[in-house]
Amino acid sequence: MIEQIAFIGVGNMGCPMAENLKKSGKKIKVFDISKKTIELAKEKNLDVIENLNDLITKEVTTVITMLPEGKNSKEVFLGENGIINKVSKNCLLIDCSTIDIQTSIEIGKKATESGIKMIDAPVSGGVMGAQKATLNIMVGGTKDAFELALPLLKIMGKNIFHAGDLGSGNGAKICNNMSLGIAMIAASESLMLAKRLNIDIKKVHEIMKNASGNSWPISVYPPLPGLIEGTPSNNNYRPGFSAGMMNKDLKLASECAESVSADTPLGKMALEIYRKFCEEGNDTKDFSAISKVIGGDAWDYPID
Ligand code: NAD
Repeated sequence: MIEQIAFIGVGNMGCPMAENLKKSGKKIKVFDISKKTIELAKEKNLDVIENLNDLITKEVTTVITMLPEGKNSKEVFLGENGIINKVSKNCLLIDCSTIDIQTSIEIGKKATESGIKMIDAPVSGGVMGAQKATLNIMVGGTKDAFELALPLLKIMGKNIFHAGDLGSGNGAKICNNMSLGIAMIAASESLMLAKRLNIDIKKVHEIMKNASGNSWPISVYPPLPGLIEGTPSNNNYRPGFSAGMMNKDLKLASECAESVSADTPLGKMALEIYRKFCEEGNDTKDFSAISKVIGGDAWDYPID
């Protein structure tokens, strides 16, 4: 059977992931509900199908989704026009969206009841990781489904992990992003303190990159401009990974923690800081723009 991939949700992450699949020689068609996103996908020479019904034919062998939230995944898979009732039995479903564990399990169970294999496979590494195909991909699902998906996941990512049963991919991702949200605030605080102490920020950044205070926000994705080329902080905080998405992930972490009576005070504090930032109208900025809130008037650059 000829491999035919249907990719749904080609925003900041989905578009470069789909491009990498295309570049590797895969037959791939894409769909998105946003007209603006569709135009961008067309500019990247992706084969856009403008109607979901025309995308999901019996010939499709894999569906990959990269959607914002659990409600979007639920609508696409199980909604009125849900794709679970449309794909053939041997089609593999890969949901790369970061969503709540329960929704992931619910969709997977419905797929299994229909005899269809499904994995949750959220990713980390940001837009740059998606572009360079160096994503970390964390998979939840059966070993069979994991192995079936592995060749495609290796085209989009560098480190592919089988975290456990269905939903474990999202569980791992939620834990990862709770750390990331806290670390971005921590990096911003350290750089702000350096600035207040009148120490050259570039020097402090270089020192931290090599010393024990290093973190992903310091070494790869610094929250201030002028430190590493190609980051959202050098592009007026255009996402990247939006503050709204980080707020969503910290909320997921907080709900997960409550569900198992885990105490996560720093995770909750980070959620509070991002929630307020988003409420003030910053949800579409990159999440590293949180440095402006942390820095206050220490900074002399605009973020609007
Ligand atoms: P995005 O908003 O840029 O893209 C999501 C796309 O899904 C949008 O283009 C939107 O129009 C589309 N969409 C929404 N509902 C749809 C539907 N019913 N049918 C078809 N298309 C639909 O978001 P993103 O930054 O690409 O993030 C996608 C997912 O990846 C999120 O769950 C996010 O948490 C996760 N993630 C993002 C990053 C990052 O750096 N941006 C990194 C890791 C993980």
